[in-house]
Amino acid sequence: MSKPHAVCIPYPAQGHINPMLKIAKLLHSKGFHITFVNTEYNHKRLLKSSRGCPSSLPDFKFETIPDGLPPVDGDATQDIPSLCESTSKTCLPPFRDLLSKLNSSIGIPPVTGIVSDASMSFTLEAAEELGIPNILFWTISACGLLGFVHYANLIAKGLTPLKDESYLRNGYLDTVIDWIPSMKNIRLRDFPSFVRTTDPNDIMLNFIPTLVVRSSRGSAIILNTFHEFENAVLCDLSSIFPPIYAVGPLHLLVNNIPKYGLESISCNLWRAEPECLQWLNSKKPKSVVYVNFGSITVMTPHQMVEFAWGLANSDQNFLWIIRPDLVEGETAMLPHEFVEATKDRGLLASWCQQEQVLNHPSIGGFLTHNGWNSTIESVGSGVPMVCWPFFAEQQTNCRFACTEWGIGMEIDNDVKRDEVEKLVRELMEGEKGEKMRNEAMEWKKKAMEATGLHGSSYLNFNKLVEEVLLP
Ligand code: UDP
Repeated sequence: MSKPHAVCIPYPAQGHINPMLKIAKLLHSKGFHITFVNTEYNHKRLLKSSRGCPSSLPDFKFETIPDGLPPVDGDATQDIPSLCESTSKTCLPPFRDLLSKLNSSIGIPPVTGIVSDASMSFTLEAAEELGIPNILFWTISACGLLGFVHYANLIAKGLTPLKDESYLRNGYLDTVIDWIPSMKNIRLRDFPSFVRTTDPNDIMLNFIPTLVVRSSRGSAIILNTFHEFENAVLCDLSSIFPPIYAVGPLHLLVNNIPKYGLESISCNLWRAEPECLQWLNSKKPKSVVYVNFGSITVMTPHQMVEFAWGLANSDQNFLWIIRPDLVEGETAMLPHEFVEATKDRGLLASWCQQEQVLNHPSIGGFLTHNGWNSTIESVGSGVPMVCWPFFAEQQTNCRFACTEWGIGMEIDNDVKRDEVEKLVRELMEGEKGEKMRNEAMEWKKKAMEATGLHGSSYLNFNKLVEEVLLP
């Protein structure tokens, strides 16, 4: 009998590609032939500067489909709403063609299942046509997903879209939503950010409820979290969705794979600078604050300058990753005086190997935008956070990090240097920082247990394969 063959298709952004690649590696380790589907735009970026997805294995292959956006020669993060719209409208035909090409290729086993990002739900039609399972991977937190689930109610109750722009500032976002048992005292501002619109036709406000409804057609749902971490929320979700398999933190689960060449397969859309790790080697344990806002966040030049002086005035060592497209409309420029003042204790770089950085003994705290991967990677390393959520469900992750998990402190969106200085000092030297570090270490222990032999995520992954992909 031929091998089972899983087609894994992430949403085309870094924070979706990384966890999907881990799922693909885990399935490969269970004997699956893997086809990993990137968009043409991202594939070109991966091939540049040797960041590519080098597939040395005959049974782990990369394929591409177009994303439907007009071609550009860029190297920048694509606009998320446009990408959601174009992939959902245009990707099904090329995806269908790819599946039939794979199914008629000699030497490749027929496709037996699809693991698709939940945001690429056009794959449902293709899977249903072929009569094969389609597992939907929501790469966000369980609490963020529950926030998305409640978008339909928020709209129905007239809580969003907002009446006008003044509602963003007049305290309205502090309205407490009291009908979700696993989200006690949650405020409108803690819901994923797309509720902060005045436009009833807003792409994301309409896209999300559609995805939630379509998700019930999946054969199963995967989440990159673990039961011990988001138990109440997972229970709530389980009454709404097809069977949910919490298999995270995936970056820890993937460590269980025996080493046989998969380590070299990575999909970094930017080239990581290895100097970051060398620099960290020269610093004392827990003495560096790591600053990274992920692959999508953009800030104003003013916000960047406030962060810079806050870091400088905190007197802490810092590693600050500044993507070339981090600052709105221009190449990131930092004041010369800031660079001079911090040259002995600060390192600036454009991209790094984040998992290794977070695991480095010199790291004592993380100033983060609370993207779900960054959050769960920080948890897996026992590192407490200062949170500056940007968009999507990062607001919900921040809320849970600060009030449920005890590992975060929030910085106001209208960032001020004095607040950055105060919170970074507290994180690195204060009593609250110490308490959060202890909590984070406890969560790390639980995360290791969940992903270790016979832990909940470890068992869930095996069940997912046996119950859904190899029925
Ligand atoms: N990442 C990285 N190096 C960097 C910045 C980010 O490897 O310098 C990785 C990070 O480890 C995570 C992903 O990129 O896996 C970012 O995903 P996240 O959900 O945190 O945020 P997003 O980029 O989607 O906003």
